[in-house]
Amino acid sequence: MERNSKIYVAGHNGLVGSAICRRLKSDGYGNLITRAHSQLDLCNEKDVNDFFAETKPEYVFLAAAVVGGIHANDTRPVDFLRDNLLIQTNIIEAAYRNGVKKLAFLGSTCIYPRDCPQPIKEEYLLTGSLEETNQWYAIAKIAGIKLCQAYRKQYGFNAISLMPTNLYGPGDNFDLLSSHVLPALIRKFHEGKINNTKEVVVWGSGKPFREFLYIDDMAEACCFLMQHYNDESIVNIGTGKDVSIRELADLIKEIVGFQGNIVFDSSKPDGTTKKVIDVTKLNSLGWQSKTSLSAGIGTTYDWYLRNQ
Ligand code: GDP
Repeated sequence: MERNSKIYVAGHNGLVGSAICRRLKSDGYGNLITRAHSQLDLCNEKDVNDFFAETKPEYVFLAAAVVGGIHANDTRPVDFLRDNLLIQTNIIEAAYRNGVKKLAFLGSTCIYPRDCPQPIKEEYLLTGSLEETNQWYAIAKIAGIKLCQAYRKQYGFNAISLMPTNLYGPGDNFDLLSSHVLPALIRKFHEGKINNTKEVVVWGSGKPFREFLYIDDMAEACCFLMQHYNDESIVNIGTGKDVSIRELADLIKEIVGFQGNIVFDSSKPDGTTKKVIDVTKLNSLGWQSKTSLSAGIGTTYDWYLRNQ
């Protein structure tokens, strides 16, 4: 990518897309193209093709997708399967047809088999059964990866697929029912502090381990791989380090400044006991995450205070 390259970020209002836009702008890329959902329906093949024919982007970050937690996946399977298949198929096809030089497709580490050995290596994709609750999303994303590989094989189209771990940061979803654990705990401890409550309830046993990547690190990795990686095989993006939910809760409690106690609600599910990815490939390509968990939580909490 050159500083004046035309770059289309699909999904620029989402957590990932907005961070990629921030990163590109701060690196001096001034020729960004974005379209809000109300301006362009990515499920509509003709509209997407017309948009590409009109704007002729040179590089594409495909960060647009229907996303959500366990409950959303379970209750809206058609949206997660059909819409994601349409969005990615329309964009990849239009990008290829309209002479895009390179496309980066965003997968997710939650599409690896449910019972993967840990840490999860790239080659474990499609080696076992999926987690049933997010199978709709996973099948669509796996099809997206295969589509990138197919366009490369049949047409020589430079499409790469990236696999981010659990992400967090400014712009996250803080809704207690649909959010992931990190933003949920920031909100719970903050409300506990403000209301001077004696305790904050953390779901499950606190024993499961999870990996968290700060969203601006993720955006930096995406831009790095757009510049330096040109292969069909997928690349994990993460820190390679995990923490227990108990350690995470202690850390967020301290950063937020909540004075009360943490109570674990064992009636709530723990989910997978451990989920951490192998980032050897990413590291050997020359990229490592920089933001410590405590610094990232601090910045995310500041954002929450300004935007709640
Ligand atoms: P997962 O990584 O797909 O399991 O998604 P989550 O981020 O929702 O949950 C991760 C772990 O954090 C699970 O063991 C949850 O039980 C635990 N957890 C503890 N408190 C909360 C909370 O307030 N909200 C959420 N979403 N998870 C919590």
